[in-house]
Amino acid sequence: MSKTYSYAAQSASDSLKPYRFERRTPGADDVQIDILYCGVCHSDLHTVRNEWHNTLYPSVPGHEIVGKVTAVGANVKNFKVGDLAGVGCMVDSCQHCASCAEGEEQYCENGFTGTYNGPVFGGENTFGGYSDSIVVKEKFVLRIPHKDNLAAVAPLLCAGITTYSPLNHWKVGPGKKVGVVGLGGLGHMAVKIAHAMGAHVVLFTTSPNKREDGLRLGADEVIVSKDAEQMATQANQLDFILNTVAAPHNLDPFLALLKRDGTMTLVGAPDSPHPSPTVFNLIFKRRSLAGSLIGGIEETQEMLDFCAKHNIVSDIEIIAMQDINQAYERMLKGDVKYRFVIDMATLKQEAAA
Ligand code: NAP
Ligand code: ZN
Repeated sequence: MSKTYSYAAQSASDSLKPYRFERRTPGADDVQIDILYCGVCHSDLHTVRNEWHNTLYPSVPGHEIVGKVTAVGANVKNFKVGDLAGVGCMVDSCQHCASCAEGEEQYCENGFTGTYNGPVFGGENTFGGYSDSIVVKEKFVLRIPHKDNLAAVAPLLCAGITTYSPLNHWKVGPGKKVGVVGLGGLGHMAVKIAHAMGAHVVLFTTSPNKREDGLRLGADEVIVSKDAEQMATQANQLDFILNTVAAPHNLDPFLALLKRDGTMTLVGAPDSPHPSPTVFNLIFKRRSLAGSLIGGIEETQEMLDFCAKHNIVSDIEIIAMQDINQAYERMLKGDVKYRFVIDMATLKQEAAA
């Protein structure tokens, strides 16, 4: 066992505070990682505050992890001490159901094990990346092809794969007109990745002051979604829409922008439901409303390689571990450009003091 220093919430109303626990000694198939950076996902906030009504406490969030390998088990083949390594949203799955067999571990029929908050179908708690180190099965550890700017690579492990996977699945590419709803952590990665895939990208934002950033990040057009006139210019035009909004909202104005046979995929996971959309918006143009969850391990590696090839990283603001509670308040106000990343040196200094 090794002593681990972290930040945890002890209840839904608690702020994140220092917390010590022990990680397992690496087994034959394990990789031990010294965490350098961890991104701050809106899912961390939903979990810490028990907004999905499934949080196990203490809660140590964090699933956008980049670090350096400090030990490997006897069976580990692809990592050695000193290598860079990444960990995303999953650390285990059953490995034998149909989804796992197809490399879609996020849809594991027996429930994958989240990097934090334990197996999705119940079981022992797991502690995530707001900590100085982690031990993970090699199968769930990613290779980091980027050479530098490692803090900005961390958000690819969740925000990157959660947007790459549906863009890939619904075959976004040249000749396709693609909408991205919400310019936050996920949304800004979606804009960059859809642009790199060769699509025409339309950003929908509630924040008029994000227009310039949207264009700089790769959007061809920016529409303020609260402005009905601007929305009307896009009616029946989009092949695909990726909706990343973290709060319940009316889906109809977006469904009305899809072409015949178009799909809107929801990745945002608000704590309460969206109002049900009007069925006529679906049936009259054979439109689909879909959902998507992160992405499999093989696809996550493919996304990291794609991003390295296209020079894609996240736009980040580096914070100290001690600033996490203020960062959550700012994230709730949409005041983040466009992902907070924790510099774990600040946690290690505190642990040593
Ligand atoms: P974020 O950085 O907070 O971004 C959310 C964006 O949604 C905001 O920047 C804002 O963009 C837009 N928005 C519009 N109205 C909003 C409102 N009333 N409240 C909050 N946001 C509003 O969050 P994120 O980290 O990208 O995560 C987005 C959602 O995806 C969360 O629910 C998260 O849990 C979920 N998620 C899902 C998966 C999955 O696998 N499906 C994976 C990771 C995260 P504008 O200012 O441009 O309107
Ligand atoms: Zn996440």
